[in-house]
This record gives sequence, C-alpha cells and structure tokens, in this order.
Amino acid sequence: MKNSLRALPDEKGYFGEYGGRFVPDTLMQPLIDLEAAYNAIKDTDAFQNDFAEILKEFVGRPTALTFCANLTAACGGAKIWLKREDLTHTGAHKINNAAGQILLARHMGKKRIIAETGAGQHGVATAAAAARMGMDCVVYMGAEDMRRQEANVFRMRLLGAEVRGVESGSATLKDAVSEAMRDWVTHIDETYYLLGSALGPHPYPMMVRDFHRCIGQEARQQILEAEACLPDEIVACLGGGSNAIGMFHAFLDDADVALTAVEAGGTAIETGHHAARFSGGRTGIFQGMKSYVLQSGEGQIALTDSISAGLDYAGVGPEHAHLMETGRVRYVYAHDDDALAAFETLCKTEGILPALESSHALAYALKRAAEMEKDQILLVNLSGRGDKDMGIVMDKIGKGAAA
Ligand SMILES: *Cc1c(COP(=O)(O)O)cnc(C)c1O
Repeated sequence: MKNSLRALPDEKGYFGEYGGRFVPDTLMQPLIDLEAAYNAIKDTDAFQNDFAEILKEFVGRPTALTFCANLTAACGGAKIWLKREDLTHTGAHKINNAAGQILLARHMGKKRIIAETGAGQHGVATAAAAARMGMDCVVYMGAEDMRRQEANVFRMRLLGAEVRGVESGSATLKDAVSEAMRDWVTHIDETYYLLGSALGPHPYPMMVRDFHRCIGQEARQQILEAEACLPDEIVACLGGGSNAIGMFHAFLDDADVALTAVEAGGTAIETGHHAARFSGGRTGIFQGMKSYVLQSGEGQIALTDSISAGLDYAGVGPEHAHLMETGRVRYVYAHDDDALAAFETLCKTEGILPALESSHALAYALKRAAEMEKDQILLVNLSGRGDKDMGIVMDKIGKGAAA
C-alpha cells in the first residue's frame, strides 16, 4: 500500500502537487478540526458498522451489477456491464456521501447541516439524510439554478430543508459554495458543512472519496463472481469527480484494468462551450484547492456549458488532476449530442433511463466496446437515473420522440 496511489493524500492533503487547503484564516481551524474528527473515527468498528447499516437500510446497497446483453450485441464487441448507482435512494450515487457525512456530523455533535447544490441532486440527498437523522438542514442554491430546477427545490422543501437562493455572481453553483462557506464560519459551533463532491479544501476530497469507495469495492466483488476476472476497462463520467473516484479507487493498483473518465464536451471545445477541464483547463487555485480549472488567460473562472447540470463545473477534484498526470486514468470527453444519443440507446435496448451525466460515460463506452474483443469486459458506472432530466430531454429530442 505504501507506494500505491491508493495511499494518498499525504498528511497535508496533497495528491502529488494537487489538493491542499487554500482558504481564509477563519476556515483553517474548522477544517483542521473536521480532519481530526474524521481521522479519529473513520476506522473504528462503531463508525464502520453505522455506515454499513445506513448504506444497507436507507441507501439500498449493494446496488446491482447488470449485464447488458442487447447493448453488447448492438455494439458487437466487449461485454458491457453496468454498476447501478441509479438504483440507490434519491436516484444517484450522491446519497453514499451524504449518508457518510451525516454520521460524521452526528458524531461531532452538530445539529445543523448546511450544503450547496447546483442542479439540486446533492441538496436532495443531503435533505433526505438530514431528515432521517432528525437534523436541521439549510441548502444554498444559485437563484438561476432554482429557476431551472424547480422540482428539486420542491423536493428539498418536502424533505424538510430550507432552500436559500443566492443572487450574487452568476447565481449558480460556485456562488452557492461561497455562501455556504460564509454561513459555516458564522455558525461554526453547531453547524456541519456537507460538501457534495470530491473537491474543495482538505479533508473533503479524501472524505467524499472514502464514502464512495463502496461503489468500486462492490463492483470488484460482483464482477469477480460473475465473470471470474476483473474488467478490461472501467468508465465513469466526471463532474467534480466523486462517482469516478468511488468506482476507480478499488482498481487503482490493478495495472491491467484501464480506467477512463469522461468529461462534458458540451457543444464544442474550441468555442469554450464545454466543461472539459483536462482538455481546456490548466492548473489553478479554485474554491479551496489546487487543481485543474477552466479559466481565462488572466485567471478569471470561465463559464462552462453542458447539457448535464452535474458535469457543468469549472473545477475538478485534485485526486483526478494527479491521476491524470501519473497517466493511471485517461480523461476524455463526450459532446452533448453523443450523450443524448447514448441516453436514447440505453432506454431502448435495456429498459433503463440513465441520467444525462451518466450518458456521457455511456457515449464513450458504446464506441469503445465496438473496438474491443468479444471476450473482453467493459464496466460502466451508471451514476444516476434520468427521471430528473425528462424536461431537458423532451426539449432536445422533441415530445414526438416517445410517440
Ligand atoms: C452530480 C452527479 C454527477 C457528477 O458528480 P461527480 O462528483 O463527478 O460524480 C454524475 N452523475 C450524476 C447522476 C450526478 O447526480
């Protein structure tokens, strides 16, 4: 384990040269306290038992591993398997992390949960976990995002959360993150900040990763049972990076297993209408971490564009920046149109409605499977279900498509 990529981050929260803790003084102590609290309990039987129990009883784990016979035949190459995070409670992998952090919050004696959300998926997962634990919950959300994601705002309120609109900046996710951090320093004693992806200042990238490792651990065991060997390649979509690292982590030391993460290629890379940080971004400091960031020549954070709200973010988790530079994971992108086509293909061939985020991983997988041999195995992490995306899909492919 010592020289393994799985041993990271180091004590300062670095994955190679990425990560760290780039925050104002007022946030430094809360982050140090959080790290200490997490390190003190993470390997205890009591905490691991509580986590296993909530994953089983509330989240709905283990999730299925599904062989796609029709899709495999249609592509004419590798055997395609899906890890079904779409079958979890609230419909995406995000609940794994919300469940883990809510247990940590309870252990720390916190009574009030705050979170930021973009499309509302993390807000819904957090509100659900907070309700189960009997805690107060406040979710910060850009006012623009609230207009675009009305149904999720309503879901959060039904689950007992207070949703606070943020009007500053572009009134989207990065402004909601800033506002949540402000709230945290103001109410530090009773408040736990439940961050939603494997990014931000240390210890969040490590903690969020740890809570999602169950995805890859289960998948590894399930594919060994089903095929008696590991997959040749594993694919996941890449927003902040949590579902991808959760899936990849258990396989980082298996050199024969290729790992591929798929970013949002939007409409085009050349025009800047995308969120492919590893194709159009460079190293920078953004929201508490050093990582790859989409930015202008002067270092202004760039506007991003994607059909899927969950991949539409200018920064990416620092562990991925390191995995890119070491070459262990390959980072590619899929365009909006290809994701939509893959979305339709999975619906028709397998009877599964994938999230548009997950459809980016599928778009790459469909092409890749066709290039592989028939005895090879391609495993795709289906990060979430597509019910939340019906409005966008109806707009894009027309209401007549289903007729
Ligand atoms: C939020 C989300 C993502 C992107 O977030 P990661 O942290 O990169 O996993 C991907 N898929 C779904 C379904 C999501 O809700």
